[in-house]
Amino acid sequence: MALIEFKNVEKYFGDFHALKNINLEIEEGQVVVLLGPSGSGKSTLIRTINALEKINSGELIVDGRHVDNASNQDLAELRKHVGMVFQHFNLYPHKTVLENVTLAPTKVLKISKAEAEKTAEEYLQYVNMWDKKDSYPGMLSGGQKQRVAIARGLAMHPKLLLFDEPTSALDPETIGDVLEVMQNLAKQGMNMLVVTHEMGFARNVADRIIFMADGEILQDTTDVAGFFDN
Ligand code: ADP
Ligand code: ADP
Repeated sequence: MALIEFKNVEKYFGDFHALKNINLEIEEGQVVVLLGPSGSGKSTLIRTINALEKINSGELIVDGRHVDNASNQDLAELRKHVGMVFQHFNLYPHKTVLENVTLAPTKVLKISKAEAEKTAEEYLQYVNMWDKKDSYPGMLSGGQKQRVAIARGLAMHPKLLLFDEPTSALDPETIGDVLEVMQNLAKQGMNMLVVTHEMGFARNVADRIIFMADGEILQDTTDVAGFFDN
């Protein structure tokens, strides 16, 4: 069974046709990179997967759950298993790094504070941010914030992590650290769907490239080297 399945999916914003007849199956164990010009629908496509955007027609099945016509309870369940890393981090500014990472596990998964802090330590070590656990997001660089956001996503033990232009808002000198964390996750077999303009990352890390333009998938290939050589 595919981890993500789009069947004839259409998405409109008013009259604007943002996703046009999307058909897509993503298996477990694939790192998929979505490329395409600005405004082509990449962000909209990944936001439909955890229902941050609702599709207008077609079928969307994620980890065996129908996202189209899902109840609010189903969506809450789905979002436990689908993590998302945003361009602008979406950290809580008035909570420390550690609190940002423990919040969802304690509130949503009802894990004890002690247990959540143990998990948070593991993932903050992984992204090399444990020494900043008591800092507030405003004190961190963009790259540091993004690594905290990744740790927060991982702390939910997601089956799938979505990345929406995770490095586009960062200073150039902090991008490398974030891409390195993402590359390590990929090596460890995390299921990832990544919207990015980082061609080096796409070329070196992707198992599959999906190229969009004007709301359509124009290319979908596992021949990543071939994609970049042509
Ligand atoms: P990309 O990620 O490829 O840059 P997006 O998915 O963000 O593209 O956007 C695709 C198109 O849909 C753009 O023209 C954008 O302005 C439009 N769009 C995105 N979200 C909305 C929205 N909430 N309301 C209206 N138009 C939107
Ligand atoms: P982020 O990187 O945090 O997702 P964006 O600027 O891409 O920020 O989008 C912020 C919000 O604005 C999203 O919810 C998106 O759907 C919405 N949006 C994007 N383009 C448009 C548009 N043309 N009209 C209305 N809303 C839009």
